[in-house]
Amino acid sequence: MTVVAETARFCADVLTCAELPDGDTVYDDAHPLWQKFVAAGLANWWLPERYGGRAFSLGDSVEISARLSYHDPGFAFSAFLPILASRMLEFFGSAELAQRYLPELSGTGSFCATLGSEARAGSELTNTETTFRRHGDSLVINGHKQFSTNLAFARFCLVLARNADDERDFAVILVPGEAEGFRVEQRWRMSGLLGTGTYAATFTDCAVPAGNALNGNGIRVLEVGLNGSRILMAAMAIGMSRRIRDLSMEYAATKRLGGAPLSRNAVFGARMGQLEMELETIKSQCDRAARDYDELYLGARPAEKFLGQGVLKSAVVAKMHSGQVGWKIASAASEGFGGLGYTEQHEIQRLMRAMRHISIVEGSDDVLRDLIYGRYVRRASRRG
Ligand SMILES: Cc1cc2nc3c(=O)[nH]c(=O)nc-3n(C[C@H](O)[C@H](O)[C@H](O)COP(=O)(O)OP(=O)(O)OC[C@H]3O[C@@H](n4cnc5c(N)ncnc54)[C@H](O)[C@@H]3O)c2cc1C
Repeated sequence: MTVVAETARFCADVLTCAELPDGDTVYDDAHPLWQKFVAAGLANWWLPERYGGRAFSLGDSVEISARLSYHDPGFAFSAFLPILASRMLEFFGSAELAQRYLPELSGTGSFCATLGSEARAGSELTNTETTFRRHGDSLVINGHKQFSTNLAFARFCLVLARNADDERDFAVILVPGEAEGFRVEQRWRMSGLLGTGTYAATFTDCAVPAGNALNGNGIRVLEVGLNGSRILMAAMAIGMSRRIRDLSMEYAATKRLGGAPLSRNAVFGARMGQLEMELETIKSQCDRAARDYDELYLGARPAEKFLGQGVLKSAVVAKMHSGQVGWKIASAASEGFGGLGYTEQHEIQRLMRAMRHISIVEGSDDVLRDLIYGRYVRRASRRG
């Protein structure tokens, strides 16, 4: 059975029968849905075989993210986001560090988390205020991080910090969940992606071995890590748009207009044709980005090649495009349900709120537009 078929089975056997999450639900490693996901052999499905993983490609992962999101976007987000930290560790951690921490992710389905964002640094990572300082064989970390998903139950996290003695030097450092001086603070109550646990955290003289720092400039390392998770975030819009299409068709089969079902109405038909076209463009861009990613990943010296590229243009474009088009789809569809579509009870509201995060998390559109301009428009125009 292919991994996509395995995911489809998990969705049919488990997710369709599960209760939808509310504001108190957290998909942590003890949650029954997560345990079933682990038992199905799907947890952290992208990890390489040398770490006990199943080594599924980004191409496959796009469809996995889409299928999980069709049923439960919060579950999908919690499930794929560890690709961000685990891929940074796989590429840029020492062999010993990777061997110590990665096999557990595939074996027991434990989580890992990333701490990049800060209250003041925002998207300008060069303004990062969390610091590290070398002290003998240790690195001592101090600072506050604003958002990190899966953090409270993560086996380890990767933290972006600035060298306290050299403001141009940044590192990504692995901190075990039980490290002294590391404290997880409040869980944010999000308006969407229910079930996802996102937290703030503080580091107070938190000492870890110097070997826990990943190789390479921390900001560049984080940029590389974000390529995979941005593509899978974009892919969530495929699943949510498919769900919106199916909900609209169910509604149109029962709603009558002028003595006939809404599904026979030309205006409704045109709207659904438009939705399908837009959905296809999301899928095409995600597939394109995943192909670019897999080409680098499966080739020789992937870590080096990714580091050379940094931000993958097609991954950023996929996330921006999915966020914008997905939002348009959700908004148009909500109107189609009339007043019902504005009630909290209607599923379209849950989907709209979840869709919104794609244009915000891992770089909002304003920030990514600026990034594309700086790296691909201005530089290209200088080349003539
Ligand atoms: C559900 C959720 C989960 C998250 N999980 C994680 C996680 O696991 N790890 C993690 O590190 N972070 C995480 N985040 C944080 C998330 O990635 C950031 O919130 C997001 O990147 C936006 O950054 P910011 O909040 O710092 O906003 P800012 O960067 O301050 O941006 C706010 C606004 O300021 C404007 N702006 C900022 N910079 C520019 C610019 N250069 N050009 C033009 N306009 C600009 C834009 O309008 C932008 O939308 C999560 C957030 C959410 C909501």
